[in-house]
Amino acid sequence: MFKDISDFDLVDQRVFIRADFNIAIQDGVIQDETRILATLPTIQFALRQKAKVILGSHLGRPNGEKNPKFSLLPVAQRLAELLGIEVMLSENTTGSAIKELSYRLKPNQILLLENLRFDPGEKNNDDSFVHFLASLTDIYINDAFGTAHRAHASIVGLPEKVARSGLGFLMKKEIEAMDLLLNRPQKPFWAVLGGAKVSDKLGVIENLLGHVDGMIIGGGMAYTFLKAQGYDIGKSLLEPQLIEVAKRILQQAEKKQTQIVLPIDSVASEKFEENPKTEVIKHGDSFGQKMGLDIGPQSITYFEKFIQKAKTVFWNGPMGAFEIKPFDEGTKQLAKQIAQCEGYTVVGGGDSLAAVKKLGFGEAFSHLCTGGGASMEYLEGKILPGLKVLQIKKAA
Ligand code: AMP
Repeated sequence: MFKDISDFDLVDQRVFIRADFNIAIQDGVIQDETRILATLPTIQFALRQKAKVILGSHLGRPNGEKNPKFSLLPVAQRLAELLGIEVMLSENTTGSAIKELSYRLKPNQILLLENLRFDPGEKNNDDSFVHFLASLTDIYINDAFGTAHRAHASIVGLPEKVARSGLGFLMKKEIEAMDLLLNRPQKPFWAVLGGAKVSDKLGVIENLLGHVDGMIIGGGMAYTFLKAQGYDIGKSLLEPQLIEVAKRILQQAEKKQTQIVLPIDSVASEKFEENPKTEVIKHGDSFGQKMGLDIGPQSITYFEKFIQKAKTVFWNGPMGAFEIKPFDEGTKQLAKQIAQCEGYTVVGGGDSLAAVKKLGFGEAFSHLCTGGGASMEYLEGKILPGLKVLQIKKAA
């Protein structure tokens, strides 16, 4: 379906690698370098093949303006350390100096373009910006799974223009993981979905219902489902406009004989603050003025039964308001349960990935997805624009 970097002769070619270096940086200090490490095999391969390597990425949301707060300088410095070679960071995102430099690159040098989103043309997939990027590129490699759902210049416009384009190794790995989940999961396959809103996850819930044997729904979004089943949820998060949708999903699941498992108790509080007075409320009992901010201890034990038996697990979204203690407990316990599961386990980016890493369970998962939003869109059944454009190339 796709070509990848190993399908091309890279010698002396200017290889533009679209990476995803959109990472947390605070006061110039990198908070999490997972995405940098994940794309190293692709960069190192290109260097070994004697390519002239040009890297492009975005960082944060600078809104089309140059802003030192969003500079890729810390990434350039870290890459230089990791690769042991010179990494030049361009001052601008366009200009003839960059083009000239792209031809003059030596085998022990890399050119990292400054944050592509400093140019408004990146997000707008603007023709002139695409034209400029194409002028730097002999071969295009996309290794930015986390951005593959965005139809931006460096993701869609550029590969449309470049004759030779394909996937990097990270992208390939990510697609293989998603494909395995959707098309050849070992059964039983369980999805564990959490997070704040049903509305954000509706597409995934509906599509995954056709693939999984069971689905655990926790976090804030569970309360709309509990309400749909007639439970009192007090002041817990609720999307009233989705109660009917939740009812429909529960009915659909029943028809398909797919189990939807909801929490049976909550850790609740009147206040959304650090270490407040809490109470465990069994679902069916009254919440009064309280809101459920985490799954309760009985839910944790209940969920474990399903996770233990699963041969494939996909997890996205925290089980509670995990940023605030003690409401991180459910998410922690769930991360541990999935880490201990012997099947194929995938965590789908974002908050859940952060939780897994913070707890040191990263190694125990089969795949840690580097793109939260992209993986969710993939599992919704959408064709990601950044992948579609590479597929069409191959067929043509
Ligand atoms: P999402 O971005 O949709 O994955 O949601 C993550 C957010 O959901 C986190 O900021 C959590 O604090 C929040 N969250 C999860 N469970 C709850 C809950 N029971 N009540 C309020 N917020 C929650």
